[in-house]
Amino acid sequence: MELIESIIAMQKESEELRRRGAIIALVPTMGYFHEGHLSLMRYAKKNADKVITSLYVNPTQFAPNEDFSKYPRDFERDYKLAKDNGTDYLFFPNNEEIYPVGFNTYINIKGITEKFEGKTRPTHFNGVATVVAKLFNITKPHLSVFGQKDYQQTLVIKQLVRDLNFDIKIIVLPTYREHDGLAMSSRNVYLSADLRAKANIIFKTLSKAKDLILSGEKNSEKIEEFMKAHLNSVPEIKIDYASAVCAENLVQKLNFESGDEIALLIAAYLGSTRLIDNMLVKVP
Ligand code: AMP
Repeated sequence: MELIESIIAMQKESEELRRRGAIIALVPTMGYFHEGHLSLMRYAKKNADKVITSLYVNPTQFAPNEDFSKYPRDFERDYKLAKDNGTDYLFFPNNEEIYPVGFNTYINIKGITEKFEGKTRPTHFNGVATVVAKLFNITKPHLSVFGQKDYQQTLVIKQLVRDLNFDIKIIVLPTYREHDGLAMSSRNVYLSADLRAKANIIFKTLSKAKDLILSGEKNSEKIEEFMKAHLNSVPEIKIDYASAVCAENLVQKLNFESGDEIALLIAAYLGSTRLIDNMLVKVP
């Protein structure tokens, strides 16, 4: 595995790979790898000739009150894990490289970014879209791999690719979970042992809501009430949102119909840690 820190060197390498006819896959990450990240790298390795994993904690997707400075980092461990899981190039730029003095262009996606994560974190998706567009231009991939864990983000990225005509296939892979169902996340390390033991309430709630839909419930208000009541069985939880919406565009619909695909979306605080998760369900 090659470590590349400069944009020019990465672009040169990608250009040369393309000239030689190699299929390039990009896995964008903020590091502190867990099995979820590694599953994306392994998929990329199976489906492309060369895998570029980017490791960059992107400041523009964090609001001033968020956890940018304390976001967990462990470069040595990440380097080894990336190397052992199919990454050919670890792209590891610094902030001066990505946002040099005079940087002044931001991508502002409307619609899909204005609800759920975008409501609580109004500048978040602009930062994500901007850095991902830059990474696409730097690494020149044929495909790029994302996790369903950040479901709204995958819709934002697909919108970006459609609207700006990036010739890149977007792959979305299933959420990797801990044994008790908690979605793996770099942020899980923030949880105390006590709250960690209770954190799978989110997965349990999603699973029960899925069962409810599969047994015939089509009313979104009833599904949402059910999810909120179930989440509130853990007193330390503070719900940001618990919603059942159309999976395609996150639009609300009072009564779902047979064949609709529903996205169940949850964001909740456990203590001061904000966790998100989701599940997709096809209405029978
Ligand atoms: P992050 O480093 O948190 O920005 O995540 C980098 C990529 O890994 C994103 O596409 C995430 O959606 C994906 N990802 C994060 N957690 C998981 C998980 N538990 N399972 C699968 N993919 C994940």
